Order: sequence, then structure tokens, then C-alpha cells
Amino acid sequence: MPVIGCGCPVCHSLDYRDKRLRSSVHLAVNDISLVIDSGPDFRQQMLRERIMKLDAILFTHEHKDHIAGLDDVRAYNFLQRKSMPVYGTTAVHKQLQTEFYYAFEEHKYPGIPQLDLTEIKDQDFTVDGVTITPLPVLHLNLPVMGFRIGDFSYITDANHIPESTFEKLKGTKVLALNALQREKHASHFNLSEALEVASKIGAEQTYFLHISHRLGTHKAVEKELPDSVALAYDGLTIEL
Ligand SMILES: [Zn+2]
Ligand SMILES: [Zn+2]
Ligand SMILES: [Zn+2]
Repeated sequence: MPVIGCGCPVCHSLDYRDKRLRSSVHLAVNDISLVIDSGPDFRQQMLRERIMKLDAILFTHEHKDHIAGLDDVRAYNFLQRKSMPVYGTTAVHKQLQTEFYYAFEEHKYPGIPQLDLTEIKDQDFTVDGVTITPLPVLHLNLPVMGFRIGDFSYITDANHIPESTFEKLKGTKVLALNALQREKHASHFNLSEALEVASKIGAEQTYFLHISHRLGTHKAVEKELPDSVALAYDGLTIEL
């Protein structure tokens, strides 16, 4: 937000919290620096937050708004003099190999992104000693991975959470969850569904993300939410 060419009051809002780049989160776990998804705004987000070091990227799924910015890891390849570890399902890797084909050619042109793909399944894995629990969810019929790291859980682009994933979310203190708009949507939770899911999971604090201009302004929507739920906004920082 704003949406190109849209004249709605949300897209015209002057509140900085109504300026939303594509969804992503940076995690600092001790001195390990991770990012979940590198959408089209990845470069701008890394610059804004002054992320000087990046140890790995985890992908939730292969949609363009979650992967399109991957080319810009070149800056970290250059700074850190190594390939970027990239974690995702087989489907994600296949899509990366299609969209960023030039990074996987046998004879590589100099200066292209260097990626080191590791396949993940529905099983805990570690990145530089940080344990990560994948949280499988569905996005219409597309499998998407959420991720739990300690007491923080991140789920985006879901409209269905299986019981086995609710089990894995037990006891999470902070939850990030997608809530697109008020109207029903084919592949994303709407506001009322997201509120229901948030209350079922029962985190101390839930933040909604992947928000469309159709939801309303940050200020107006926040007034309707229970104390334990808030809208995320670009640049929001939380400590656990
Ligand atoms: Zn709009
Ligand atoms: Zn998606
Ligand atoms: Zn998305």
C-alpha cells in the first residue's frame, strides 16, 4: 500500500503505518540474522533497517510477492564473500530455479546472486544453531510454511491451518498472522477468520500482517481489535 492508481482513503492516508511494503520479517537471534521471504521490496527493507549481515533466508512459499527480491542478496554475497543459504520446500526451490535461472547455470556470469539451497520438509531444522520449526498451512490449495523460532511464530498467506500445526503453535507468545481484508477471500484469512484463529492459538500478542488497502486504515481497524491483537506495520520491532 498504496496500490498503484488507487484513490481510496487508505491509499491516500498520511499515517506512516498505512504505507505497507510486501510482507517479510527480519529475525535477530543472538548474533544470527535471518529473513523470512525476500519479496519485491527486499532491497528497500534491508536498507531501511540497516541489516549489515544476513546469515540465511527462509521462504514460506513461491509466490512472486515473497521471492521477487532475491536477486539483491548479491550485496550480501559481496560483503560476506559467500553464498546465501536459502531454505525452502522443493516447490520453492523449483520456482527459484525458474525465476532466477541465471544463478543456477553451470557457467555463471560474474556478479550474479550466489545461492545455496537447502530443502526443508515438515521437520525441525537448524540454521547456525537456531532451531526452526516449520508450520505447514494451506493457501487455497498451495502448501505454505510458517515458521516457529522459540516463542515467536510467523504465518503468512494462509487460509487454513491443520490441527497438527495448531499443536506446534501451543504456547507461542508472539504470533504474526495474515489478515488480508474484511471480505471473504479464496486464499487468505479475512479479518474475522484471522481473529478466530488468533483466539484459538491464544498467543499473548498477535500481529496481523499481509494487509490489503481493503482492510481500512491502521488507526480505524486497531480500535476494533481485542487487546491481545494489533496490526503490524512496516518497521515494527519487537523483543522477546
Ligand atoms: Zn486503495
Ligand atoms: Zn501467496
Ligand atoms: Zn503473499
